[in-house]
Amino acid sequence: AKTHAHHTSEIAITPHISVGGKTLFIVGGPCSIESMSQMDTIAQTLLQAPVQGLRGGIYKPRTSPYAFQGLGDVGLDILSAIRKRYGLPVITEVMAIHQIEKLAPHADVLQVGSRNMQNFDLLKALGETDKPVLLKRGLSATINEFVMAAEYIASHGNSNIILCERGIRSFDNYTRNVLDLGAVVALKQITHLPVLVDPSHATGKRELVAALARAAIAAGADGLMIECHPDPEQSISDARQTISLEAMTGLVESLTPIAQAV
Ligand code: PEP
Ligand code: MN
Repeated sequence: AKTHAHHTSEIAITPHISVGGKTLFIVGGPCSIESMSQMDTIAQTLLQAPVQGLRGGIYKPRTSPYAFQGLGDVGLDILSAIRKRYGLPVITEVMAIHQIEKLAPHADVLQVGSRNMQNFDLLKALGETDKPVLLKRGLSATINEFVMAAEYIASHGNSNIILCERGIRSFDNYTRNVLDLGAVVALKQITHLPVLVDPSHATGKRELVAALARAAIAAGADGLMIECHPDPEQSISDARQTISLEAMTGLVESLTPIAQAV
């Protein structure tokens, strides 16, 4: 354990679960919420893994307007029911200011996706709440732009901010993005905010996820966000990068000795 010289602010998610403290904050779940039975299976399995948070997209920022856009309000009802049933903290993406009021009562953390990292009006509006915000690094955002985006939230009064490195664009398209572990180390040095890593969107390939997840923890990340599904190949969105629930459980187990050594 976590003997790094730099101070990290511990952010309380529930009375029993926090990010940035001694224990890792591992989030698992599907790219998109698809059905009640999908989420029920995922929550039940991940509770045992164990994970500390459950993810699931309701409003999806898809590249194509013709691709599945998420279940919308039906998805929110599912997320809300699962949250009550299992007591696991839930994380979902907020895409616009008008969604904040609707999502906040049903989510423990609101996610700002890469495509909205510099949506300054959204950041300011989230700054006026006290909800923990998971801010994902923009597709081609510099470290300074990322830190300044977080500053928009903090300067409006909300310091419950978790940063998430999710890969950046490069010339190489073998992986969907390139995971910038150097940024993780730098962010831990220059900010006091907890830093998570999302190896799913960083790689776009499920066979690369576990190794980079372990590397992220070794580099000092405070946790992970990973896409997993009972039948990964059948995921409606991001199937290629989604791992099985068995793989997720095995991965979580493999992190313990690494976290102890960091
Ligand atoms: C997500 O985590 O659901 C997502 C859309 O990721 P990103 O914003 O990093 O592309
Ligand atoms: Mn996804």
